[in-house]
Order: sequence, then structure tokens, then C-alpha cells
Amino acid sequence: MTDILELIKNKDPQQHEFHQAVDEVLASVRPVLDRNPQYRQEAVLARITEPERVVMFRVVWMDDQEQVQVNRGFRVEMNSAIGPYKGGLRFHPSVNLGIIKFLAFEQVFKNSLTTLAMGGGKGGSDFNPKGKSDNEVMRFCQSFMTELSRHIGPDTDIPAGDIGVGAREIGYLFGQYKRLRNEFTGVLTGKSLNWGGSLIRPEATGYGSVYFAAEMLGANNDTLEGKTCLVSGSGNVAQYTVEKILDLGGRVITLSDSSGYIYDEEGLDRDKLAWIMELKNIRRGRIKEYVDEYPQAVYTPVDPGLDYNPLWNHKADCAFPSATQNEINEKDGQHLLDNGVRLVCEGANMPTVPAAIDLFVDNKLLYAPGKAANAGGVAVSGLEMAQNSMRLSWPREEVDGRLKHIMKSIHRTCLDASAEYGHQGNYMAGANIAGFVKVVNAMLDQGLV
Ligand code: NDP
Repeated sequence: MTDILELIKNKDPQQHEFHQAVDEVLASVRPVLDRNPQYRQEAVLARITEPERVVMFRVVWMDDQEQVQVNRGFRVEMNSAIGPYKGGLRFHPSVNLGIIKFLAFEQVFKNSLTTLAMGGGKGGSDFNPKGKSDNEVMRFCQSFMTELSRHIGPDTDIPAGDIGVGAREIGYLFGQYKRLRNEFTGVLTGKSLNWGGSLIRPEATGYGSVYFAAEMLGANNDTLEGKTCLVSGSGNVAQYTVEKILDLGGRVITLSDSSGYIYDEEGLDRDKLAWIMELKNIRRGRIKEYVDEYPQAVYTPVDPGLDYNPLWNHKADCAFPSATQNEINEKDGQHLLDNGVRLVCEGANMPTVPAAIDLFVDNKLLYAPGKAANAGGVAVSGLEMAQNSMRLSWPREEVDGRLKHIMKSIHRTCLDASAEYGHQGNYMAGANIAGFVKVVNAMLDQGLV
């Protein structure tokens, strides 16, 4: 096992996030390999950690000043054992191959847990949509899709949104794919409602994460009612996490973006949330503007000299990291424990560093890893694909009901798998084991491909 990790590190020494994601899964699945010697004989670890295909390409586009710009595009098609590749596109300056590989690897396990037939993939670009005009974003998306369109399709690989890719970007990407292929198919999910999107898709990741938290609390005869929650981020996942926490009677006191965070002791309410959604989704503003509108709140800019994030250092019951990877370091983890947090539910992908996860597990926190807790987004993407294939749209209640059912089932699967391998109540071990076994068995059925 260590050999596999060493091999991966030697092959691609720069891909730290990928190493981190692989290391976490390897630690969980050791007992599964011990119980099933066939897995070692068939070299499943070497196979599952190697992408089936990696596409990396140049994206050239013209900005509003008529300057030529060059970005790098990626699509990692990680595993198609249980269905076509499925996973989002991320547009953010930090994007590189290691980040896309970690996201694609996580996606394989997450998609497996949803019970839907979806393999794992992920893609994106180091393009930064922040501060760009709509026309610039459109030109970039058209150039990006001109290459990507050769590699995807409704039965091959179905991308969706992620950081920096929302309804606007999905619209431009879909338009270009349709023009190139002369076909109207469900090749992307997260589409707008009036041209093939699903109700509840925008809400799905945030709602799903809170449904998962409610299940964890429910298993301990508790609820979210009256619980004080820390939420990070202020994008798609964070916004709908807040909405569902409010629905279930919880209180949210923080939100953030990459420049800083706000602390509102009074708690957010529906009017404040509507204001934030308008700020972030329409005006594309920054979270610090919140304190101009609500002066009782406090804004704290990011301090690069600090070795912890003060957002995680407030008295609270629950934490919902919903911004990005590695946003909770070991010190943050200790602050959460010291401040009374008993539940950490990951809306973001891999937001917690391994040392902080160890703290949560050792202290028996209710800790839900992203691959289980944020699977609601891709689950409803799977439902969007089903509706597209049937050329019909399900009502809101039906999609929400299915989402709730899927999150309940993922919760149960994690608990059962963790108990089967002697890690009772360890959701991370359970998610990794259950996701792994299903994919690996499908790979073995399909031979050496
Ligand atoms: P958005 O682009 O809508 O929002 C991202 C939020 O996180 C923004 O507030 C952004 O701030 C903040 N953020 C991004 N990068 C950083 C950083 N390096 N440091 C601090 N803050 C940062 O993305 P989503 O809400 O869609 O995604 C959030 C997380 O959830 C990601 O980890 C994503 O992979 C994961 N996820 C998303 C799903 C979805 O359906 N959208 C599904 C499953 C997981 P700023 O505006 O300053 O960049």
C-alpha cells in the first residue's frame, strides 16, 4: 500500500492534493484488501489510482482589450466502471493537473455512493472568471468547449459546474457544444430550467449536505433545531447550506470568500440570505459588502501572517466548510473542538487536512467527509440526466424527495460499511470502503481494460 503511494509520488511529485486524497482512501481500505486477497492479486490499487484518460489542452481567447490570452484546460476521465464519467468543471487560477486529479479521484467514490450509474471525472481551467466581462467569459467558454467537445458526450462524459462555473458558464458551454455537434443532448448538467435543467439542482449540494448532517444528528437522537453553525464560502454550496439550515431551525453566524469572512452574531435570516444571493450571483460582489448593509456584523480580511482561519474560532455546535480544499488546518481543527463544535459536515471537497481529520475522529466528532456529505449535487445531476433521457421534468417535491432519500441511503451505507470493517461510526472509513468495493468489483467483472 505504501508502495503504491510511493510509486504515485515518484511518478508525479508535484501532485500534492492527489497524494493526499489517495493516502486517505488507502488508509481506509486496508482491511478490505486484507479480507479479499483477490484485490491485491488483480492490482486494483494501481488500477484505480491511474486515470483512464487525461486530456490537457490550450485555450486561446481574446479579451475586451483585444489582447490574446492563453489558458490551460483539463479533463481527467478517472474511472468508468459503473457508468459514464461524471464530474464538474472548475475555473480558478489555482487549477492544475494535481488538483483536477484529486477531484476526479474523489468523484469516483462519491458517484459510487449515490447509487446512480455514474463513473468519475473532473475538469477545468486556470482561467479566472472573477472581474471578467460576460463577453470575455463567453469567448473563453466557447474556446474551451471547442476542444472539450471532442472528448465528452451524453453517454461518455457529462461535465457540470464547480468553483467558478455556475449557470452562466454552463449556458455558454452548452451553446457551443450544441453548435459544434448540431445536437441538443444532456451533455452537461446544471443547465437552466427552461432548456433541460432540473429543479433543485442549484440547491442540491447545500441541501444534501444539511440533510446528511440532520441524519448524523438523528442517529444520535438530536436535531439541528437551535444549533449554531459556522459556514465558510458564499458561493453555490454555502448559500443553499444556509437556506436548509434555516429551514431546519439552525442559526448561521459566518460566511466567507477568498478575501475574508463575516461574523454576524444575530445570525443570518432569509432576508439577509436573499441579499447575499443577489450580491454574489447577480452583482458578483464581495462578502465584505455585507457589513455595509448590516453594520452590526464584523468583517475580518484574510491575514496572510496568521497560521489559522479565525472563522473557525467562534463558539458553535456545527461547522459546514463549503469553500475549498484544505481550508481547515490542524490548528483550525483544534479551535473547532475547543469552541464546542460536535459536528463537521463537508460541503466542499477535501476541506480538512488529514491531521485535523484525525483530531475529529479521535475526539468522536460527527465528521462527514465531502465524498459522502456533498454527493447530493452529483446525485441530482444524475437525476437531471435521467429527466433529459426521458425528455420530461419532475416537480420540485419529487426531486427533493429523491435527494433526501439518496442522502439517507448514503448515510446508512457509510454506517454499515464502517461497522462491517470494525470502524463503527467512522463516516470517512465507511464512505471510502463502500465507494471502493462497488467500483472495484465492477472493474474486476470487466476484465483488464
Ligand atoms: P462557487 O464558485 O460557487 O463558490 C466558491 C466559494 O468558495 C466562494 O465564496 C469563493 O470565494 C470561495 N473560495 C474559492 N476558493 C477559495 C480559496 N482558495 N480560499 C478561500 N475561499 C475560496 O463554488 P461552489 O460553491 O460550487 O463550490 C464550493 C466547494 O464545494 C468546492 O470545494 C467544490 O468542489 C465543492 N462542491 C461543489 C458542488 C456543486 O454542486 N457546486 C458539488 C460538490 C462539491 P471567492 O469568490 O473569493 O473565490
